Parts: sequence; structure tokens; C-alpha cells
Amino acid sequence: MEPVAGAAPAGSAQLAVAPSIPLMQQVTKRLSQDDLEGRAPSTATEPRVLDYIVAQFERAGLKPGNQGKWLQEVPTVEITGSNHSPMTVSGGATPLRFSFGDQYVATSYRVTPQTRVENSPLVFVGYGINAPELGWNDYAGVDMKGKTAVILVNDPDYAMDGQDGLFKGRRMTYYGRWTYKFEEAARQGAAAAIIVHDTFPAAYGWNVVNSSWTGAQYYVQTANDGMDQTMANGWVQKAAAEATVGAAGKDLGALTAAAQIKGFKAVPLGLTASFGFDNAVRKSTSHNVVGILPGTTRADEYVLYSGHWDHLGRCTPDATGDDICNGAVDNATGIGAITALADANHRAGPTARSQVFIALTLEESGLLGSEYYAQNPIYPLAQTVGGVNIDALAPGGSARDYMMTGGDKSDLTTLFNQTLAQQGLRGSPEAEPEKGYYYRSDHFSLAKRGVPMFYVDRGLDLIAGGTAAGQAAADDYVQNRYHAPSDEWSDTWDWSGMTTDLALFYQLGRSLAESSTWPNWHNTDEFRAIRDKSCASSTAGC
Ligand SMILES: [Zn+2]
Repeated sequence: MEPVAGAAPAGSAQLAVAPSIPLMQQVTKRLSQDDLEGRAPSTATEPRVLDYIVAQFERAGLKPGNQGKWLQEVPTVEITGSNHSPMTVSGGATPLRFSFGDQYVATSYRVTPQTRVENSPLVFVGYGINAPELGWNDYAGVDMKGKTAVILVNDPDYAMDGQDGLFKGRRMTYYGRWTYKFEEAARQGAAAAIIVHDTFPAAYGWNVVNSSWTGAQYYVQTANDGMDQTMANGWVQKAAAEATVGAAGKDLGALTAAAQIKGFKAVPLGLTASFGFDNAVRKSTSHNVVGILPGTTRADEYVLYSGHWDHLGRCTPDATGDDICNGAVDNATGIGAITALADANHRAGPTARSQVFIALTLEESGLLGSEYYAQNPIYPLAQTVGGVNIDALAPGGSARDYMMTGGDKSDLTTLFNQTLAQQGLRGSPEAEPEKGYYYRSDHFSLAKRGVPMFYVDRGLDLIAGGTAAGQAAADDYVQNRYHAPSDEWSDTWDWSGMTTDLALFYQLGRSLAESSTWPNWHNTDEFRAIRDKSCASSTAGC
């Protein structure tokens, strides 16, 4: 154990067993050291990272969680496009031609050496949303086979001030995320899917789209090599989309306004698009680490704790020449936390339900370790009650408040509020609900397949300094440390906030593990239908 000067464990006073902060510190510090080179997956350092995590899980009292093994293989595929043609649009008043990078980008989710979209009819599908629980289907009555969907970014009521709209107003819903739009276009059988970029609703400029979509892309390997996906997914600049819609004799503003009204019908544009590129394919393997504390009376019901072990590895050097993105906060703290939670639960004795602890890989490459786990669950999802995901705990002071990222989506809110009250804390509304943080870390791979998951964030109202101090600390991390070489371990970190975090996570997880109830999503929630379907198809579990 590291000798550590720490604050009194604020939130843990009322717990019979408290998670060990020295243990969390030791694991966090080790994983942040330079010799692990920022924990990039599938590199020479991966085995050393995995060996260390396995040893810590074992010492914390866990049993191997994958049929007697600690590791779950995560096969991935890296696809890098090249030789992109311009995108040509025919059939309108004038032929159009958009250059790759400046005006459009596209990638293949299919493992194939060449992508060729030829004379594919363009259909404007509004926001590209099919939400049966809301009675909303932008694809109603159209057959997308062979066609290319032209899709608006975000969701129909993103510009509202409040959160009362069908799509929760300014709060981001999954229907507003680009990942959803490509998934739905594939379910509709579209040949290709193109999102219209617009800086305000996208919340980032074209430069971000261009840089994120022109290099290597990473996916989980699937048995069908992604052949259930569209041939190509991409983005176009708004001006290019306006020109395209104009060539069809229509107006993008008018179509957008129509798409925001319930009952909107997709509009075939009477145009076709052609574009293509080559794909270089490289396959590799990384690993999730899985441990379990078996339950007593309900051992075939599972509560999950997850965090990602990977980070960015070697990255762009800072002014001092440091090119190791250590990921001390993101997410050595998360692995430190789940190790300390495993240890505390082991010391407290077994719970009725089993508790599963997973150190996930490839979060930074697009939630791939969790995606692979959710596609290939070791413990059936219908028997998985719920869980707690931990990503990037911040050093700093204790807060009086905590936020449920994603808002009030499920019955987990009740447990959250009860636990806060027991620990002398209070709930506060999520800051920046428009940013959709619930859809951006590993719990989401499980949530979108129906498993209710906690993703809880410390609030901004710090005991020392109040909201001003909390906001300043949050801004400092985003501006000066997030995904940079400066996300490093420091012996001077204030651990009082993380101490309260851990006590809260411990009680949330342990309560689920001792309970016999099955929290579900609220009736109008985007993940309710899939949970109900998953439960109906299972004889055990929810
Ligand atoms: Zn992270």
C-alpha cells in the first residue's frame, strides 16, 4: 500500500465496510506510470497491463469470471479507407461533385477491400429515427434497399430550451447520436447513410468530422464481417446538402422544418449518388479482464461493475516533449475504483446476487470492449440486473451533490435518491444534458441492449468552495488534462471527492446485489422495448 495523506472518508462513515482508498491509489498510480506507455490496446505493453490487473483482481478476492479464465478475447478490425473518389450526384438540374475530406467523408463498416456505391437513389429521411414507443418512424412506407439515406444530425426538438419535448428537448437522446442513425439505416436495409453536418446541432465543426472520419476506423469483429451494415456511412457539409436538395428543386430548410413534425414522411429526391474507395483491413486482438464474486441465493443473477483499462498510448507531444498519454484520471482511476469495490465487497461477504467486475478494453476506440462483451455476454443480459460504470474520477474535493448522467431514465433513480439521502448527499440535474454523455462510455453498450446501468457523476457543489470551485475544477480538467500527456498521476491529489464517490458506488452496487427487484427503464424510455423483449425471451432473470 502507498502511504497516503488523505482526507477523512466523507461519505463512508455509515458503511460497515468502506472501499479502501489506499488500494485504489496504489492501482491508479501503477497504471499511470510511464513504462506502461499510456495503455494502448494490442501493443507490447498490453500483456503487462493485463497481468497487473489480474493480480490485483485476484488479491481483491475475485474469482476468474470467464469460465475459469480471467480474460475475454476481444477481436477487432481496423479499416482504413484510401483512394476516395469524389461523390457525384446526378439526376438534377446540374450534376454535382463533392470532394472527399472538404465536402464529404465516408467509411465502410463492412470488412471488404473495396466500397462502391453506384447510382444509389437519395432519400431524405429527416432525422432518420424509428421510435415505436413515441409513435415516430421517419422510414414509414419507404423501402431503403439499394438507396442512400440523407439524415439530419441530432433529433427533432434539440433546439428547445426545456426538456419536455417528445425527444426530451435540449437533452440529447440516443436518437440524436450519429451511431444510432447509422445503425437504423442498416436495419432499414439502406445501401448507404449520409448525415448532414451542421455545427450547432452537431456541437462540433466540420474539422472534427473530417479528422475523425478520414483515418483508421475500429470495429468489433463479427461472424458476418459487418455485412449487415450499410456499404458506406458518412457525412456531408451542410452547403453540399443544400446544393443537393436544391438540385432536386427543394429547400433544405423547408425539409428540415417538415422533419421536425410528427407524421413526417421521407422524401425521395429523384437524384442518385455515386462514390467509392478502397479499404485496408488489419485484424487484431485485445482483452477484457473479468472477475466475479459469486452470489449465495440468487447466484445466476448478476450485478456489473465496469471501467476501461485502455487509454491513448503514445500521443501528440506537449511543449515539454512528453508524448505519453498516461490516462491517470481517464481511466486508471476507474480500474483503481473497481478493484477497491471488489475488495470491499469481498471483505463484506457474499451478496445474494453475483457481482461481476470487468476491466474493459478499447473504450477510447469507440466502446469496443464493452460492445464485444454486450454482443457476446459471458453472463446473459436478461440475467444481468444492472450495474455501475466508472470512467474518469476526478481528484478534488467532496461535493454535496451527485448527478445521474442521462437523467431519470429508469427505476434506478429511486435507488440513487435513497442512497444519496442515506449518505447525506443530494441529487442535482445533469449539467450539459445536450452533450449526451450517457451515450459515450461503456455502460451504454449494455444500456442499448436493455440493461439499466448507472453512470453517476460528482456534482459541482463542492464542500470547499461551492459551485464556483466545482466548475473551475471541471473546466481545468477539460481544458488542460483531458486526453493530453498532462493527465498524469500526482502525489498531491486531493482524494476526498473520490472517497465519497467510492462510498456511493459501493452502496449502489451492493444494494442491487442484495435486492430481489429488477429495475426497468421507464415506459417512454428508448431502451424499455429492448429490455422487455430480452426479458420475454428468457426463462431466467428479469
Ligand atoms: Zn474514459
